[in-house]
Amino acid sequence: MSRVVVVGAGLAGLAAALRCAKQGHEVVLLERGTTLGGALGTVATDGFTWDAGPDRTLLPAVVRDLFRKTGRPLERELDLVPLEAHREHRFPDGTAVRLEAGRAAAIRAVETLSPGLGRAWAAHVGSYASTWEALRPTFEHPVPDAGPGEEAARLLRSRASLARSLRRALPDPRLRAVAAHPFVADGHDPREVPAWAGLVTYLEQTFGTWTLPGGLALLGEHLAARLPLRGVDVRTGVRVTDLRVEPGRRAVRGVVTDAGDVDADVVLLATDPRTLPVGAALLPGLRRTLPALPPRVVHLGLEGSETLDAETVLHPVHEGRRGRPGDPLLVVRPGGTAPAGRTAWTVHVRGTLLEDVPTALARHGLDVRDRVVATLDRSPTELVSAWHGTPLGVRWAGPRTLAQRAEVRTGVDGLHVVGAHAAALPGLPFAGLTAAVAAELVGKA
Ligand SMILES: Cc1cc2nc3c(=O)[nH]c(=O)nc-3n(C[C@H](O)[C@H](O)[C@H](O)COP(=O)(O)OP(=O)(O)OC[C@H]3O[C@@H](n4cnc5c(N)ncnc54)[C@H](O)[C@@H]3O)c2cc1C
Repeated sequence: MSRVVVVGAGLAGLAAALRCAKQGHEVVLLERGTTLGGALGTVATDGFTWDAGPDRTLLPAVVRDLFRKTGRPLERELDLVPLEAHREHRFPDGTAVRLEAGRAAAIRAVETLSPGLGRAWAAHVGSYASTWEALRPTFEHPVPDAGPGEEAARLLRSRASLARSLRRALPDPRLRAVAAHPFVADGHDPREVPAWAGLVTYLEQTFGTWTLPGGLALLGEHLAARLPLRGVDVRTGVRVTDLRVEPGRRAVRGVVTDAGDVDADVVLLATDPRTLPVGAALLPGLRRTLPALPPRVVHLGLEGSETLDAETVLHPVHEGRRGRPGDPLLVVRPGGTAPAGRTAWTVHVRGTLLEDVPTALARHGLDVRDRVVATLDRSPTELVSAWHGTPLGVRWAGPRTLAQRAEVRTGVDGLHVVGAHAAALPGLPFAGLTAAVAAELVGKA
């Protein structure tokens, strides 16, 4: 049995702690905040409650596997449901495309933009099936010492960017914006994102987008409720300030916290390793990476029950040109709980908005100006401060980012990085998979 210290109790930290405890280890979970779940949580005001960060997930199998392997199956606790539409994209020329789950529906929807585009979309998304099959083992299991398989290595070495592959595959700029959206929404420039990462669109279409009625934050709450059942020693309000590494720097011995040192045989860092002095020194490539910052997040409480039936992406007029103030990307997520006769929305703003959010929405044809009864407006700085870091991990700055960022395996005995900062693809499932990989490396007690 090893003593495992997990730093950070976001989805990845919770998953890593539960998996290691189930494998028979003594686990201590240290969280700087007063609550568990990290970005997976809620904010509330005036009778409204919204998911503060994630409100949906791809690859539901990741969550199912986590629940099954750490206690009762998901279905016994929570009702994960598929969304009918991943999102609706609205363009400044008045056209729109509603991306529904499934290949046939997607083709039909895209075809409405212009005849022939449906086929191009299907071919583009379908081309990622083999990419997913080749790379999947590298997301789900530790990469063997000999390296990933030949095809995976070829893909990961490629210098092709997502922007370039989209220009080749999709003749219409609107469709390119749809395909690049998951990355643009997370603050990346598609010219800096590797082409293979576009497989996210394939995952969306093939496995769907899922949510929890009542809010995705329930996922964090249910995982947190499992910690005492698995015997995890949870300490909140404890900030880890550094790692203790044996002289020679090849083995971890514990962590330094603002409440004293904690010994460990294994440390699973479910936070940004850049923030710890030794962490950054052990992984020198990190110094050349930048964090991907959250958008401005504006939660709205609206009078009346009229709402949107899908996440709605309002594309800026001057998409693709940098620094055009007044033309940010707006993503409207309907959802959250509201008092009777009222509705909850969350708006993500990417770019500089020179007017208030309801006015900007009205300019895009979503006029709720006279319905707003509650607003909770959180800047990226406030969010990073509330979450003690960015849950979006590392910003892509070209193919070299892959080698510079942290991986689960660090080269230091007993030290693994998990979560958004070690995940090569965005979102909860990939953060969750890093925890599964780390648990496999730690092994059974
Ligand atoms: C606005 C927004 C919306 C999003 N929507 C979605 C979505 O719909 N679907 C999706 O899949 N993904 C979404 N994401 C991404 C998702 O939030 C992340 O993939 C996920 O939360 C990452 O989990 P994590 O455990 O790695 O990090 P976090 O959730 O950031 O958790 C890190 C934890 O570590 C703690 N911590 C930090 N430093 C220390 C320290 N020194 N000592 C101790 N503890 C520390 C923090 O307090 C925090 O609890 C969204 C992100 C944002 C910003």
